[in-house]
Amino acid sequence: MRVHNFSAGPAVLPEEVLKNIQENLVDYKGFGLSVMEMSHRSAEYDEIIVGAKTRMKKIMGLGDDYEVLFLQGGASTQFLMIPLNFCPDDKTANYIDTGTWATKALKEAAKIGKKMHIVASSKDKNYTYIPKNWELAENPAYLHITTNNTIRGTEWKTDPVVPEGTFLFADMSSDILSKPMNFEKYDIIYGGAQKNIGPAGATFVIIRKSIIEKINPNLASMLDYNTHISKGSMFNTPPAFSIYVIGEVLKWVEEKGGLEVREKFNIEKANYLYNIFDNSDYYRGTVVKEDRSLMNIPFRLPSEELEKKFIAEAKAKGMIGLKGHRSVGGCRASVYNSLPMKAVQDLAQFMINFEKKN
Ligand SMILES: *Cc1c(COP(=O)(O)O)cnc(C)c1O
Repeated sequence: MRVHNFSAGPAVLPEEVLKNIQENLVDYKGFGLSVMEMSHRSAEYDEIIVGAKTRMKKIMGLGDDYEVLFLQGGASTQFLMIPLNFCPDDKTANYIDTGTWATKALKEAAKIGKKMHIVASSKDKNYTYIPKNWELAENPAYLHITTNNTIRGTEWKTDPVVPEGTFLFADMSSDILSKPMNFEKYDIIYGGAQKNIGPAGATFVIIRKSIIEKINPNLASMLDYNTHISKGSMFNTPPAFSIYVIGEVLKWVEEKGGLEVREKFNIEKANYLYNIFDNSDYYRGTVVKEDRSLMNIPFRLPSEELEKKFIAEAKAKGMIGLKGHRSVGGCRASVYNSLPMKAVQDLAQFMINFEKKN
């Protein structure tokens, strides 16, 4: 029996998709081999990767002015590639610090000697909100934000506005395809696939083609976006099987009705839990209401002992992954795109029962 998986990542995938992959695992569509064994240069594989890229853009409503890349190295490698490619020495890289991942991103820019400016931070209140006011440094190269803060549970509800000529880059690892967004406001959207759209091993990078003329011309091949764009993510062997699974998840998103449907579903799921916090002194959400994430929901119980007990009893009932990130403690329910409604309903009922008994 499958458990209810509230893990922050790698995370739950749609059961239908897994079953379909299982059916095609040993002999993919009658080709006589598994996707894992296929040459990435074969016509069969080309259909898989091109299909995934095309579907990604279609779901996001993006046109030919964007390129979709599937790379390796995780979102964490993008923390490095962005300043390397897009922050020339006479300009400043601008970051909004909304906690752990955002902090890691800005540290990479500083580490490689770029002029880096933190234009706003919610560190003063333990990253429990999204900063609303800021001013970019003079001569900005770009502004970088993290649209959903997986560990703290905050999420941007509006898009930041940048002056013309300044790029807007976003790490969307944990909320990509969870709702319709103004994707065309962004020059690069990137993230690890392992939260909302697939297994670990593939990183999606969606890049506005017109910005490639600004790329630093003196980069090593693997770290240069130009390389990957000109070779269609095939400069070297791509994470072929992960990309195949992403493609299958994208088909599922499309078949279920696209991003409007996902948003409706995700709001309904998140509200099961947020309603409990709002009607109880026992469970305490850790984030200001207006910035609450639809995807990652951290919360506290009256004591750490009770949190331990809560996590253990939930696990015994087939609800896993509820422990908060080791850096913040407490509990966290990640309720990504593929998590069924039933999982959240069962968790909500368990929470109500647990409060009565403890
Ligand atoms: C998980 C996560 C990352 C790290 O991704 P890797 O693929 O492991 O490098 C970065 N940013 C956000 C917002 C995340 O949730």
